[in-house]
Amino acid sequence: MPWWLNCYNKDSMIFIFVFFLGAVLGSFLNVCIYRLPKKESIISPPSHCPHCGEPIRYYDNIPIASYLLLRGRCRYCKAHISFRYPVVEGLSGLLSLALFIKYGLTLQSLLLLLFSAALIIITFIDLDYQIIPDTISIPGIFFGIGASLFMPRVSWLESLFGILIGGGFLLLVAVGYKWLTGREGMGGGDVKLLAMVGAWLGWKAIPFILFSSSLIGVLIGGSSGLINKTGLRSKIPFGPFLSLSSILYIFFGPELINWYITYSVRWGL
Ligand SMILES: [Zn+2]
Repeated sequence: MPWWLNCYNKDSMIFIFVFFLGAVLGSFLNVCIYRLPKKESIISPPSHCPHCGEPIRYYDNIPIASYLLLRGRCRYCKAHISFRYPVVEGLSGLLSLALFIKYGLTLQSLLLLLFSAALIIITFIDLDYQIIPDTISIPGIFFGIGASLFMPRVSWLESLFGILIGGGFLLLVAVGYKWLTGREGMGGGDVKLLAMVGAWLGWKAIPFILFSSSLIGVLIGGSSGLINKTGLRSKIPFGPFLSLSSILYIFFGPELINWYITYSVRWGL
């Protein structure tokens, strides 16, 4: 039997279904990413082409597939559709599938999916506008502490300390940087985002997230600074790095921390 027929079993059907549901969620996240910074309603009017205003029919709104079938163009006016749409749908699908595989069909995985969805919205809005919308981060803080009551991984006290330590640390950095240099280095958006991350993942996650997001930031910022010759001082949004580190922590955090502790003791670091 060929390998691809071998994949046709109950498990892979469930995986495809979970991925598809996640991609449908991604399609809603695209609407939020496009409309929230413009202060438009995310419910009405229904999706339409931003170029010609023609409503998008349900058969042209199938995640990823429609983009491929239409070859990335509007059916009516042939305007280019941003590649970001299928990327966000694919990301959302993959994250849903990964959470389902790691945590099963549990309340915890649904709550973590909600958190991940907020991080996806924040990442793509921050990339486009260099802002982190308060409409996501502030409710996110309260949802995080509420979610801790239902999630075994973080207690409500760890969540509360996560808000204080996460938000407090970046607030100190922001105030200190401005005091030393007279320039705005870090926006208030990042402060609220790390408070939200602390609420969801607990204070123990904060050192890992600060360390790994700075490392990713230096690697990406350094290489893009070299490519653009703009230097390291060019403003790079920090939100996407904080978000990516939070996702890494959800899946590999405790393992990576244990690995670090083991090796730092062994090497005497
Ligand atoms: Zn159009």
